[in-house]
Amino acid sequence: MNVRLIAVTNPLVEIQNEKLTPEGLIAYCARVSSPHQEKLDYEKLLAYCIKNRHWSIFEMVDMTVEITTSRAISPQILRHRSFVFQEFSQRYAKVQSFETYTPRRQDTRNRQHSVDDLDEATITWFTDAQEKISAFSVEKYNEALDKGIAKECARMLLPLNTQTKLYMKGSVRSWIHYIEVRTDASTQKEHRDIAEAVKEIFIRQFPVTAAALGWA
Ligand SMILES: Cc1cc2nc3c(=O)[nH]c(=O)nc-3n(C[C@H](O)[C@H](O)[C@H](O)COP(=O)(O)OP(=O)(O)OC[C@H]3O[C@@H](n4cnc5c(N)ncnc54)[C@H](O)[C@@H]3O)c2cc1C
Repeated sequence: MNVRLIAVTNPLVEIQNEKLTPEGLIAYCARVSSPHQEKLDYEKLLAYCIKNRHWSIFEMVDMTVEITTSRAISPQILRHRSFVFQEFSQRYAKVQSFETYTPRRQDTRNRQHSVDDLDEATITWFTDAQEKISAFSVEKYNEALDKGIAKECARMLLPLNTQTKLYMKGSVRSWIHYIEVRTDASTQKEHRDIAEAVKEIFIRQFPVTAAALGWA
């Protein structure tokens, strides 16, 4: 798994010869009807808007991240319909890698939960099973390509831990809600790890908003 910052909206507006930060731009747009649009400070304004759920102002700035994960997790990410995506296509390029995961025990009372207390022998068995299946499927996948079978058909031989890469672009508003939902304990750990990495990036890029949300 890997998460990397790709882009954040770059404001071109200047106030008092100072280039606006992305959060400054959110505030500048939010003050469209105010006689004080040229104000530079915005801590109180952003905190007020969060408290009163004036979410639309956070749609004025976008952030794009690159996410490397598995085909098991990418469909969960793609469900966040307010984002736009580009994903590695297994139809046009050859699959290169697999993600390796550590298993957890199924919680018998909560289907959305798993417990990190498996014994070493079971963990080793699962790791070994992943490696064997990945090796076997990649062997058959390569054989299929050698036989002239199209990549879009050959990929049917690949497991869910096949690695994929996505670019995910969304507004600060969408990222706030994505992070809130996907860092919650009800989200699968492998996806939670991605959301936690996104949250770290978000806190660095939007420190005032993050502090107002109680994240910093
Ligand atoms: C634990 C878990 C289990 C799931 N199980 C299933 C399942 O079994 N089957 C299935 O099909 N799907 C499942 N999903 C997916 C889920 O139903 C959504 O499709 C997914 O979380 C995307 O959320 P979204 O539609 O809000 O999209 P997003 O793109 O995240 O949000 C859409 C818009 O709503 C806004 N928004 C979101 N939350 C708020 C808020 N609190 N206040 C104001 N604005 C808000 C966002 O800013 C955005 O503009 C599950 C999700 C989770 C987290």
